[in-house]
Amino acid sequence: MLRSGGACALWASAGVCALRKNLPTYLNFWKAAPCIFKSSKAENIPSLTSEMGCAPLQTLTEEEQMLKETVKKFAQERIGPFVKTMDADAKIEESVLQGLFKLGLMGIELGTEWGGTGSSFFSTILVVEELAKVDAAVALIPELQNTLINKLLIVHGTEKQKRTYLPRLAKDMVGSFCLSEAGSGSDAFSLKTRAEKKGDYYIINGSKMWISSAEQAGMFYVMANVDPSLGYRGITCFIVDRDTEGLRVGKKEDKLGLRASSTCPVTFENVKVPETSILGQLGQGYKYAIGMLNQGRIGIAAQMLGLAQGCFDQTIPYTKERVQFGKSIFDFQGMQHQIAQVATQLEAARLLTYNATRLAEAGKPFIKEASMAKYYTAEVATLTTSKCIEWMGGAGFTKDYPVEKYYRDCKIGTIYEGTSNIQLSTIAKCIAKEY
Ligand SMILES: Cc1cc2nc3c(=O)[nH]c(=O)nc-3n(C[C@H](O)[C@H](O)[C@H](O)COP(=O)(O)OP(=O)(O)OC[C@H]3O[C@@H](n4cnc5c(N)ncnc54)[C@H](O)[C@@H]3O)c2cc1C
Repeated sequence: MLRSGGACALWASAGVCALRKNLPTYLNFWKAAPCIFKSSKAENIPSLTSEMGCAPLQTLTEEEQMLKETVKKFAQERIGPFVKTMDADAKIEESVLQGLFKLGLMGIELGTEWGGTGSSFFSTILVVEELAKVDAAVALIPELQNTLINKLLIVHGTEKQKRTYLPRLAKDMVGSFCLSEAGSGSDAFSLKTRAEKKGDYYIINGSKMWISSAEQAGMFYVMANVDPSLGYRGITCFIVDRDTEGLRVGKKEDKLGLRASSTCPVTFENVKVPETSILGQLGQGYKYAIGMLNQGRIGIAAQMLGLAQGCFDQTIPYTKERVQFGKSIFDFQGMQHQIAQVATQLEAARLLTYNATRLAEAGKPFIKEASMAKYYTAEVATLTTSKCIEWMGGAGFTKDYPVEKYYRDCKIGTIYEGTSNIQLSTIAKCIAKEY
């Protein structure tokens, strides 16, 4: 890294040091302060020799390439025909859900001993991206199952919990993650759901909101406080089966977008669960939630990226076919510049997402990069889908074309798993620590 002296020597030739000397007095602190250059972490790859160089970030292994192709085919052939009706009916088509299980997309990172595919986190990201190109609502189901549900058990579950749930989660059971409540969204750890100890079991009371896949779920992770006097340090994660007495899944929300994915309130009225249903340690639920959501954000970034790319892919051929003023609208420079700008931002979003994924996979710090990826892809998805409607004119504004659905679906990217403001706060916290 360049130290201050070196930097100033470099700057001197450009006359920058001279400029510094003439600073107004109110900027004296800047003159005195050493220059510190902070850019993204860059490290040598130990196993590569200099002659080999480094692989571009978008280089896929043979296995990843095959998976991507398989999922692309599945999405286009088996999901594509149902996208419109699933959106209109706000319901996932059963064959689509079954297809996700059959193809192994609900247990991508689970070992084969659990019935999983035994693949990488990067594979999960590629799968989510490919599915979201066709339908972001469908993509959310394996996104949550792989980045949150399965991973929580793998990392924190007991052997018995793993044996009970993992084979089912890979084969035929959807899981839901219950953190948010009516009064606690961004401020998630002010939750009010309570778990009271009675002998060797707990009684859970409270209401959760916005729970994805709750309509289909067979098991729920429930964040409940076992001792409110401890604040967030009382938050504990319980595994609760759907058929447990007192658990009720409410009427699903009628949403703007992502309609095929169910989002429901879930209430707990004197729900009795054994002590053995605690996931990991008592009072550590908040830590588990933070840890998983950090990775989950990369999954949402992949969802937004796929959605934006899918929308772009559907739109560009139209702009090449549509003729106005005697030529295709794609040929107008005013259109080309906009299209090129969006394509560039899509590429940047992809690189951010893949980089965060590779960092997480390599066990490197990735929290800032994950938040950047989620924040930026949601912005890019918003811009892309809005522009695509404009580029298609009136046609883009109708339900005869798929573009308006992408426009509705993308809005959620700025809200769940931490709103855009919360991502920005996380990024800023990381920056504050770096300087
Ligand atoms: C479709 C859908 C699916 C969901 N799935 C799940 C799920 O499966 N499980 C689950 O537990 N939850 C889920 N959620 C909940 C989701 O995580 C919350 O909606 C989200 O965290 C935001 O909380 P909120 O809606 O209460 O908004 P609020 O927290 O009330 O935020 C409202 C506005 O205030 C801003 N704001 C809040 N605090 C700050 C701050 N400190 N600084 C700056 N701005 C701030 C926000 O950025 C936002 O713009 C889902 C939500 C939706 C809509």
